Amino acid sequence: MVGKSCSTDLAGLSLDALSAQEEHAARRHVAVCSTCDRTYSEFAEIAAALGTAVDQVAPPEHVKRDVLERTRRSSKCNSPEWRIIIHAANSD
Ligand SMILES: [Zn+2]
Repeated sequence: MVGKSCSTDLAGLSLDALSAQEEHAARRHVAVCSTCDRTYSEFAEIAAALGTAVDQVAPPEHVKRDVLERTRRSSKCNSPEWRIIIHAANSD
């Protein structure tokens, strides 16, 4: 449960669905609020489980191409780690 005065989007944080500014603010809050830290840990565990809870299928080529292009253009995905992931996905 999130503390009464907390309005941090912990679900969004766990799903990596926040803007860079929102993510930064949420991580700063979680670092100092034990209630939200516990809740975030639970949400992150659930978010990780969601990724493995369904059968994996290869996306249609146009969907893969569109997602990779949007990822390339996103400022959130401009780190060396993401460039490696994008390169590996393009090599499939
Ligand atoms: Zn909190």
